Amino acid sequence: MTNTPHPALPPGTGEAPGKNFIRAKILQDRSAGRFSGSLQTRFPPEPNGYLHLGHAKSICLNFGLAEEFGGRCNLRFDDTNPLKESREYVDAIRADVRWLGFDWEDREYYASDYFEQLYAFAEKLILMDKAYVDSQSAEEIRENRGTLTRPGAGSPYRDRSVTENLDLFRRMRAGEFPDGAHVLRAKIDMASPNIIMRDPTLYRIRHAEHHRTQNRWCIYPMYDFTHCISDALEKVTHSLCTLEFVNNRELYNWTLETLNLFRSEQTEFARLSISRTVLSKRKLIQLVNEGHVSGWDDPRMPTLSGLRRRGIPPEAIRNFCARIGISRADNVVEYGFLEFCAREILNRTAKRAMAVLDPLKIIVENYPHNRTEWFHLPLFPDDPEKGTRPLPFSREIWIERSDFREDAPGKFHRLTPGREVRLRCAYYITCTAIHKDESGNILSLVCSYDPRTRGGGSPDNRKVKGTLHWVSAAHAVPAAIRLYDDLFLQDDPETVPEGKTFLDVINPDSLRTVTARMDPSLAALPPGERVQFERLGYFCVDPDSTPCQPVFNRIVAIKDTWAKLEKRISPSYKNISLPAGPSHSSS
Ligand code: ATP
Ligand code: MG
Repeated sequence: MTNTPHPALPPGTGEAPGKNFIRAKILQDRSAGRFSGSLQTRFPPEPNGYLHLGHAKSICLNFGLAEEFGGRCNLRFDDTNPLKESREYVDAIRADVRWLGFDWEDREYYASDYFEQLYAFAEKLILMDKAYVDSQSAEEIRENRGTLTRPGAGSPYRDRSVTENLDLFRRMRAGEFPDGAHVLRAKIDMASPNIIMRDPTLYRIRHAEHHRTQNRWCIYPMYDFTHCISDALEKVTHSLCTLEFVNNRELYNWTLETLNLFRSEQTEFARLSISRTVLSKRKLIQLVNEGHVSGWDDPRMPTLSGLRRRGIPPEAIRNFCARIGISRADNVVEYGFLEFCAREILNRTAKRAMAVLDPLKIIVENYPHNRTEWFHLPLFPDDPEKGTRPLPFSREIWIERSDFREDAPGKFHRLTPGREVRLRCAYYITCTAIHKDESGNILSLVCSYDPRTRGGGSPDNRKVKGTLHWVSAAHAVPAAIRLYDDLFLQDDPETVPEGKTFLDVINPDSLRTVTARMDPSLAALPPGERVQFERLGYFCVDPDSTPCQPVFNRIVAIKDTWAKLEKRISPSYKNISLPAGPSHSSS
């Protein structure tokens, strides 16, 4: 165990890591000898969109438990709706799970591989008089289902004979009927207090091509029927799902008992919600399709591909998931907590470099023309053994515009006329003159340097309060830097006034691109490489980068906004120690 003190968990995020109620339940099952002590879990995405942080919570839970208890976790695609699913989504999901650091080995399953078996189970239910073909329209079925206070009404087709049902169902499969002409329904109880049990639909007709089974089927099993049987076929011992499936559990149990199949233990947990973003594939698809973002992997998206492109290390997401824990209480986690987890990893993995985002030129008047000196910036200041980055220095230097003030207040420890500051690793400089245009805008500064302060220290031990980052103008490479802010203007983008939608609270300034001046050694970095620009934040090379035009995404700023958030956090979550570092290697 690393006993690093924990910065406190977000409010309402359940138990300490590793101590969640699901784990406790598995331990109980083990000591009771259930499932012969084995553990089989699965992560069951529907390939109808890209994975997001909510899915990461489920992936880490399912794969994490299997890892911890020496069990196995399958990757299973619940691909029962050909209209919304695609190969693109399957491929993206596989890449994302792998990137997150998990391995399903040879256990990649598809509900569509079970279509033949599912069909046989459906026929079996018909033969048992536990399922019937209903020929009401979708509206009639909905109308007759009843409400929470009114029982449902039986379909006029409910008492069809087994022979007739079997004949119709086979003809449905054979493609004799158009979409919507009939459905297969379970015959359970139209008066059940659980509406899901009021003769749920098991199969519907869909003349649509499936990305895996092509046109072999024109009837498709419903999610509920498929999901529980798929779990049974895979002998999933612990079927973990989010709370909205609590009421489906009764149907799953009915199906498995009636068909005499293996019964998984279903346990529900709260969905993850994150402030200032949306975690719903339907909404994310809308953001992509309507062009509010550049795609599923837009670095502002809470998708795993977006976070990857942004530069968030997978290890940070795993730590985030471990720390928010698992509970049954709904809660919203601050996005800042993920940033905190990212900084923690980046601080020890991202090499230091220098870049100036809003450049202001300095002419070092007493520095020789045409001279270049090389200084050495430690890649990891806490660990000098890890080497340095060579930095060219010359007569003209870029500094950050915000690091200069003409009329500076006393506490402004940066550059101002007559006050000496350090250029990191290089020299002490003092501003001697300001060049302005006719309207008073500052064009450049003239400074003098003290040659005896070479390397950034002084022979007489005189102190300077400010240290600035800089880039040699003659050597600097221009780079496009994408600075991101929250995608939404309010904590909960789904709570909007009547007549508005989450699209109305999109932050119009969530992306700002600036042209920075950058240390030339950064121009050749490959996409995905992460660096720390001193004093500015952590940045990641974007795939749009070319050798002539490097593009960087800001992952997170240096400033720890988490420290601010921490103040708002309930003290009961303080003093929780971190889980042991995950055994995965980050990529
Ligand atoms: P969405 O609401 O975004 O469409 P979904 O639940 O329909 O998500 P699935 O592909 O069915 O998406 O999800 C696969 C697994 O991930 C399920 O077991 C689901 O419970 C889990 N999951 C999805 N969203 C979250 C979330 N926000 N928090 C935790 N687990 C989630
Ligand atoms: Mg789902």
